[in-house]
Amino acid sequence: MDLVALPAFADNYIWMLHDGAQAAVVDPGDAAPVAAALDRLHLRLAGILVTHHHADHVGGIDALRSRLQGPVWGPARESIPQPFEPLRDGQHIDVLGLRFEVIDVPGHTAGHIAYAQVDAPKAPLLFCGDTLFSGGCGRIFEGTPQQMLQSLTRLASLPADTRVCCAHEYTLSNLRFAAAVEPGNTAVTAHLEHCQALREQGQPTLPSTLELERRINPFLRCSEPPVVAAAQLQGAESREPAQVLAALREWKNRFR
Ligand code: ZN
Ligand code: FE
Repeated sequence: MDLVALPAFADNYIWMLHDGAQAAVVDPGDAAPVAAALDRLHLRLAGILVTHHHADHVGGIDALRSRLQGPVWGPARESIPQPFEPLRDGQHIDVLGLRFEVIDVPGHTAGHIAYAQVDAPKAPLLFCGDTLFSGGCGRIFEGTPQQMLQSLTRLASLPADTRVCCAHEYTLSNLRFAAAVEPGNTAVTAHLEHCQALREQGQPTLPSTLELERRINPFLRCSEPPVVAAAQLQGAESREPAQVLAALREWKNRFR
């Protein structure tokens, strides 16, 4: 099975899985890059997976329906273009012979879901939309910091070699922020240099792995003393991880 990151808009990725004959895509905010890839690789479109309702994730669905030979799967608790098969926490779907579990990850949006592969002997796939980014997390638009913390904690508990397929190329800006939160974290500075080189070559910095994210992503490190201390300097009301996350998220929103 091949995994391809199709760039869309300024910094989105539409993830495409294919076996040389059939393809599935995740969060096609734009139909054009998907159609181009299907044509270039002579693939049939067998399914569309959607993580949440934002336009940059669902905008291409209707234009792809004429070539779609399978379902659109999406979050049961969100309004996305009909018809689609509504998914709830704990349900499983089969995509090109791979088995994925649906995980509720509210915070960025209220009904956001992620898709975690459950039948891989190693390096399982995780499609996490705008919840977990490399070095960061999504903005909290519809949920609470407590919900985002729970969602990120759930994702972080998946196997360490999980391949983290995020929907945006935000890694460099996230790692610059992570370096401000934890100036002493050498894993952050080393990975920032690595990702700068990748971007200079026009390469994606994704997928990441959970093993790496646990070391570099401040939003997965809300109980680590240096992260707690930095958050308190930014006004975190307590050492509670949800308060730490809230302070980090607000700091990141204004960080340049
Ligand atoms: Zn979004
Ligand atoms: Fe997005």
